[in-house]
Amino acid sequence: MLTSIAQAAYVVAAVLFVLSLAGLARQETARRGNVLGMVGMGLALGATVILAADTSERPVLVTMLLVALVLAIGASVGTWRARTVEMTQMPELIAILHSFVGLAAVLVGFNSYLTSEPSIVHDVEVFLGVLIGAVTFTGSIVAYLKLAAKIRSAPLVLPARNVLNLVAIMVSLGLGVWFVLGGGIVPLLVMTAIALALGWHLVAAIGGGDMPVVVSMLNSYSGWAAAAAGLMLANDLLIITGALVGSSGAILSYIMCRAMNRSFVSVILGGFGTEGGTVTAGDQQGEHRETFAADVAEQLAAARSVVIVPGYGMAVAKAQYPVAELVARLRGLGVEVRFGVHPVAGRLPGHMNVLLAEAKVPYDIVLEMDEINDDLPETDIVLVIGANDVVNPAALDDPTSPIAGMPVLEVWHARQVVVFKRSMATGYAGVQNPLFFRENTAMLFGDAKEQTEAILAALRAHAELA
Ligand code: NDP
Repeated sequence: MLTSIAQAAYVVAAVLFVLSLAGLARQETARRGNVLGMVGMGLALGATVILAADTSERPVLVTMLLVALVLAIGASVGTWRARTVEMTQMPELIAILHSFVGLAAVLVGFNSYLTSEPSIVHDVEVFLGVLIGAVTFTGSIVAYLKLAAKIRSAPLVLPARNVLNLVAIMVSLGLGVWFVLGGGIVPLLVMTAIALALGWHLVAAIGGGDMPVVVSMLNSYSGWAAAAAGLMLANDLLIITGALVGSSGAILSYIMCRAMNRSFVSVILGGFGTEGGTVTAGDQQGEHRETFAADVAEQLAAARSVVIVPGYGMAVAKAQYPVAELVARLRGLGVEVRFGVHPVAGRLPGHMNVLLAEAKVPYDIVLEMDEINDDLPETDIVLVIGANDVVNPAALDDPTSPIAGMPVLEVWHARQVVVFKRSMATGYAGVQNPLFFRENTAMLFGDAKEQTEAILAALRAHAELA
């Protein structure tokens, strides 16, 4: 009876997860999508506890206590991290969470191998689950280290790296056949070691500018790892949830690849973003011109159309609130203000949209790169707030650049460009930006939040005088 109730709850939870994903597809419905996902997860957890108690050979009380203990530990750590994590650290947090899913799949795989009756189907599930889990585990750790700037984001280029990857995959396949034919734990252990090294190498070989695709790809891998764990545990909801995460992550990776003009296949096989180009970190490429908040305020007040291009620096500075206030003030003065958001701006898919929504910027003035690029030649001023790689003309002009081929916001076509940043340092991809040395570009040095507040103060003073 209890098992039937739990199975029914699983079906409802699965439907809620699908509705949650549908809700998350649009900003207006994202909040509802999150709530549906949370309710679904709560239901799934409750049903799993009931199932565990109903099917376990242990006394119900012991099972309940064990589950309550691990839930309490997990929930406390999760709550503490969710409360303390900065918005700028979210990508690292997501990467490390993906690694947990990978590790869980490896542990479930070994447990399942040691405790279940061998059968060909079961052995294939175990082998694939451990393989995907191990690749996801170490790949996500490298992604975490790169995103947290604990190791260099530059690609690791080993000689014959593609051959190395291919050999690792072929040897793993051979070990898989040996394992399924009754080879015992040895081929499983050897494959695990190879898969751990492969995951590490696949992500280490990817250059900084291409990390967005890696993050969404690891998201997809973690979903497939969870689905594999679901197969091994014969847990239908875990299979469905894993498949949902795996396929939505794959779709997101595909969208990111298109946005960055990268080949999907080369991403899946790792080793992209490494060809061509030396990293010209910090090279000066001429003279730059400096401007100041009061001058920018004057230009803005006289402009008819303004486009704001936010980037990772806006997140670091937490400048979205004064930026939203600036937008409201300029719109009050009759200036047309819109945002141009690059698909990989920030460090997380949708990072800028989340920040702007948080600051209550109206959705209808937040446009995607493709929607705004054609309007830039008619724009009086573009404010580039903490963005760098996503407005780098070298992506289009320099075929040897590591970001060559990536579509960018072509802000240099506007009449005036003002770049908010603290120094002449490069962006995440480590390449200098020729935009900073163009004639119609002026640099506004300093923290983006402080400079935006200074512009607001100048606009207020201007209004009081008028
Ligand atoms: P970038 O990282 O290229 O540039 C951010 C700029 O912000 C820096 O040049 C920095 O310059 C400036 N900055 C930092 N702090 C502040 C501050 N407090 N005030 C003002 N400026 C500041 O960001 P973009 O958004 O242009 O590009 C994103 C990059 O990240 C791309 O290369 C993308 O591929 C990569 N990436 C994106 C992911 C995603 O999913 N969106 C995931 C992983 C990587 P300075 O230090 O001089 O102030």
